Amino acid sequence: MNTGPTIRVLSLGAGVQSTVLALMACDGTLPGLDAAVFADTGWEPPAVYEQVDRLAVELARVGIPLHRVSSGNLRADTLNPAHRFVSVPYFTRNADGGDGMGRRQCTSEYKLKPIKVKVRELLRYPHPTPVPRDVYAEQWIGFSTDEIHRVRDRLDVNYSWPRYPLLELGMSRKDCQRWLERAGWGHTAKSACIGCPFHGNAQWRELRDNHPEQWADAVDFDRRIRKGGASASPLDGEAFLHRSRVPLDLAPIDRVTRAEYADMQLDLFEDGDPDGCSPYGCRSGGEVA
Ligand code: SF4
Repeated sequence: MNTGPTIRVLSLGAGVQSTVLALMACDGTLPGLDAAVFADTGWEPPAVYEQVDRLAVELARVGIPLHRVSSGNLRADTLNPAHRFVSVPYFTRNADGGDGMGRRQCTSEYKLKPIKVKVRELLRYPHPTPVPRDVYAEQWIGFSTDEIHRVRDRLDVNYSWPRYPLLELGMSRKDCQRWLERAGWGHTAKSACIGCPFHGNAQWRELRDNHPEQWADAVDFDRRIRKGGASASPLDGEAFLHRSRVPLDLAPIDRVTRAEYADMQLDLFEDGDPDGCSPYGCRSGGEVA
């Protein structure tokens, strides 16, 4: 007999879509939420942490706890020779001139993993206690109608089942932005690490022009990962944050050439990801490994 979910948990990235879900849980549009979980990579911009603080207050008003979980600090861990290798999807250029891209395991390690630990804890079956078949969390994920390609019927564990409330409501990202404007949350930004290689040029320009300290941070990081990060086996070639495979402070973030326009990944290059880094969908559009 299906008894329904044991708990309902929102995966809160604090970007546009998941903020809408949190606020809809608060105003009763989406009833039944038991908890929200924010996975902190340690390298989000200050605006995201401010947003999480503000959402925690709103959620607390209606008795929903917001849990902040973390596997470490992605930036510090990458640059720490004593830390095990952090796999960030850098753009690489091999010694023979060939281009590639690093494996993306950062989302899995810094977002999915701590969320799973917390969900088990909330279910009262912390690792390694087996979770009974009929005990599971309904995991609310903020994919909008324009992100249908990210949707999966199942997650990779039996104790979490996905639910996509924005799809049920037929809301696109633009609808979410309009909804937030009306609700007084129009400032909501994308959530992603300051130096994420999936930033498009528009996001890099936003950092450079409006957040010089974050830009300087990303430029410094870019310089320091040229051989793949402190704990990586040194690369044969070089790694970069910008897809042009040019040091970030020299990268052509203002200019998009004809050839670049013709690139199949134009949207990613110019505008970046629609809503930042979701634990449940790759920023480049594919599924998380
Ligand atoms: S925002 Fe980018 S760097 Fe950060 S976890 Fe997601 S994919 Fe990795």
